[in-house]
Order: sequence, then structure tokens, then C-alpha cells
Amino acid sequence: MTLNCNVYQDFSAAFDLDKDFARIPGGPTYSYRDLDSQSAAIAGHFSELGVKPGDRVIVQVEKSVTNLFVYFACLRAGFVCVPLNTAYVDEEVAFFCADASPALVVCDPSREDTFNRLADCPVRTLDAQGRGSAIPNQPRDFGTAMRARDDTAVILYTSGTTGRPKGAMISHHNLLANARTLYSAWQWQPSDVLIHALPVFHIHGLFVATHLAVLGNCPMIFLHRFDAGAVVEALPEATVYMGVPTNYVRLLDEPRLNAEACRHMRLFTSGSAPLLTQTFNDFHHRTGHRIVERYGMTETGMNTSNPLDGERRPGTVGPPLPGVEVRIDAPPRQPGMLYVRGENVFKGYWQLPDKTAEEFDGDGYFRTGDVATMDDDGYIAIVGRDKDMIISGGLNVYPKEIETVIDDSDDVTESAVIGVPHPDFGEAVVAVIVARKDSDLSENEIINLLKSRLANFKVAKRAIFVDRLPRNAMGKVQKARLRDQYAKLFTS
Ligand code: AMP
Repeated sequence: MTLNCNVYQDFSAAFDLDKDFARIPGGPTYSYRDLDSQSAAIAGHFSELGVKPGDRVIVQVEKSVTNLFVYFACLRAGFVCVPLNTAYVDEEVAFFCADASPALVVCDPSREDTFNRLADCPVRTLDAQGRGSAIPNQPRDFGTAMRARDDTAVILYTSGTTGRPKGAMISHHNLLANARTLYSAWQWQPSDVLIHALPVFHIHGLFVATHLAVLGNCPMIFLHRFDAGAVVEALPEATVYMGVPTNYVRLLDEPRLNAEACRHMRLFTSGSAPLLTQTFNDFHHRTGHRIVERYGMTETGMNTSNPLDGERRPGTVGPPLPGVEVRIDAPPRQPGMLYVRGENVFKGYWQLPDKTAEEFDGDGYFRTGDVATMDDDGYIAIVGRDKDMIISGGLNVYPKEIETVIDDSDDVTESAVIGVPHPDFGEAVVAVIVARKDSDLSENEIINLLKSRLANFKVAKRAIFVDRLPRNAMGKVQKARLRDQYAKLFTS
């Protein structure tokens, strides 16, 4: 096997080491020289602890610049980084330790005892300030270990909303190919400055945001967590912002968000969950910017994006990115399962060859689990996850179609439509709605609205008003939780 690939090698080939890597508002600035020397020192330190190329390194720490140094250390040394959401509790962590069988764990000091109990390997710490036993005191020389292009660089566990989480094996080449595609599609430039306010245990903050900044040798304004006020304050110094839809809703609540604050901005992107047309329009109205909505997933990286030049259509995720082939198993314009193929698509699930084989068809297309439509111009709209599809009275109902009608109402902030068990229909459509403050919208009004716009079998049997929808760290509505909560609505 030829060892001629390492994503870090390609990222760093043309680094100007004097350029800023990460600027922390009110705190220190780190240069690309820091990234290079710190990642080398950490890679050397981990090697001395016995970690070898191909070994897994579990990293469950708070977001910090040093956390990124650890990540890049793993890439350059050929260790397989396994970032874990900090929200995972002991029981979940036990599963990841058993499944990934790491050669090293890097964790928050508060988790050290837990990991010492659960993991059969050295455990080192890293706190939110970037201090801990994972970080060596001495600089070390460390080259970059070349790998085969299909060697795994990162294992990212899927959120596992149904069943156990699966480790997606993402290769050095997957990472490089997708970063290059986005760099060109989003017309990235070395003069760009990115506001980084996303978590770094997930594809969005780790691959999409960090990789593009590093590929461009660009500075990031590095926020340890999303804070609408801090983002607005950073806007005048920045050119690019990437967020999840709920971030944009929070930004719109900030009175200081206006066109003047965005005067140097050239790109706002949104993904990880659907962006409401209302949010797209409100943001455009307030700032003059049309958010670029894109679509991707852990297993595939980014698949589609609205264009930089050309129409950005709200409610769609744009056409496929160059080099990404998509197929929708349905007649034109009808909803069907979305399949993707390309250099961005992962190798398979860690230690789950049967599951991997199930999710790829004979032509190498990966079944995304997302139901989508494509219009005549090639723009794709995500209609929902296949497991969210409702079968009521034997007829397929796509929640997005109903949510779109409800969200159109001026009295509604957002909604989630789910199917729950029903003695006659099998499943019944239920709408869970967040109404705008001060609205006196009633259940009957919602049902009448749906009746006026949709076939009867799609009309919700119940409309339930709540203060907020349950969401995970990436802003995705947790429909499984809603289904559990309302499971007995018609059957008890
Ligand atoms: P994750 O692997 O956590 O990134 O989740 C990927 C899933 O998020 C996809 O399979 C979609 O269901 C959803 N998703 C990502 N981007 C979008 C988007 N722009 N619109 C709708 N759903 C999205």
C-alpha cells in the first residue's frame, strides 16, 4: 500500500507560520507557528506514550484552541482521533471505550477517574483553559506520518437517535477532498477571517469550519461557545460565519445585528438542521446577506450547497457540490430516498461490516436516510429523515410538508410534526408548535389552516403548543423524544 497521503501535510504545505491561527476576543492569539509546534510536541508526547499510527485516541474535552492542537497532532501522526461530545454521560462513555478500544484517552480533569475505570489505556487530561497532562512542557520535533489515502483519520460517532451510535470511519482523503471542494465552491480566500462559534466534536465545527480556515491559512476568531452578543461583536473583524439555524434565530434577537456590523462579511452559511424560510428572509432583511444553506452529514461530509453566484433558494439546500453524485429514488420532483457517491463519502462503520454493506448499494452509493426532492434546476430540498416519515391509514406523510404550512403562519415561531401510535390509522399526525409570544393561536385554527391547504390524510389530528422544541447540541429537533413524550396520546 502506498503511503503518500496525510491531510495535515496538504493543509500545512504552504503555511505562512507568522499568520494568526486563532484570536480569542479579550484573550491570547495563537499563530500557525503555534499550531505547527504544539501539534508536533503533542504528537511526539503521544508516541512516547505508546500510541501508533492507526491507534484510536478518544478526546472528550471542552472546546479550546489546545483541543484543536490535539486534533491536528493526531492527524499528522496518523493516530485516529475519536472526538466525543462533552455531553455524553458515563454509560455512553463506557460504550465508546469498549467499541473504539483506544490506545489513549484525553479527557476533562473531571472525567479522569471515570476513564481510568473504563479504559484499558493511559488517560491524560486537558481542561477548558488548555492545561493538563496531555500537553508536554517541552517542544519536540515531529514530522508528518504519511498514510494511505483510504486510511482512517477520524472516527466520528453518529448521534444514534435510534439504536447504538455507529463510528463513521472518515479517511484522510475524504477530509481533503471535501475541504477542497468547499474551498472552491465558497470562493474561499487567504484574506478570509472566520468566526468559529461551533463545537469541535462534530463535523460542522471540526471539518467544515476549522478545515477551511486551515486550508486557507486564515485566522479564526475563536469563541468557546456560541454567544449571540459575542458573535455580533466579532462581525466587523470577520468575513465568514458558519452557524446552525438556531444560532441565526438567536442572532436576530440581537438589536446590534445590522448591515453596518456585517460590512466586511462576505459569507454566512447554515447547516446541520433545516433553516426556516422566515429566518432566511429576516436575516436578509436585517443584514442584506442571503444565508448559504448547505447539506451534509457525518458519514458524507458536505453534499450540496446553495451557490455563491446564482440564486440561493430558501427551503432548499442547493444543487450537489462538484464531484458529488446524488440519486433520489423517486420520479422527478417527488420525494424519495437520497443516495450520494463521491470522494467525500466515508469508508464505512467501525467494526460493523454488515451495517456498512446494508447502507451502500451495488454502485457504491450511500443511503443517507434523508428523504429529498429535486426540482427541475437541480436544487434539492430535504423533506425529512426516512424514520420520521409517518404512515397514517397506509398513506405516506412527510412531516416537512405540514411543518411548512404551519410555519407560514405569522403566529408561529416553529413546529415539529411527528407520527404517534393510533388505534385506527396505525399512526396519527401530531403537530407540536411553538407559537409567537402574545399570540392566541388555537388548536382549531391550526387544524383549519391545514385543512385548507392539505389533503385530509395529512391534517394533524392534534396540535399541541409548547414553549420550545427539544434540540441536541447541533440544533436538531429531537423528534424521537417528542414521539416518546406523546406516544400514548391516542392509545391510553
Ligand atoms: P450529522 O451527521 O449530525 O451532521 O447529521 C446529519 C443530518 O442532519 C442529515 O442527514 C440531515 O438529516 C440533517 N441536515 C444537515 N444539514 C441539513 C440541512 N441544511 N437541512 C436539513 N437537514 C439537514
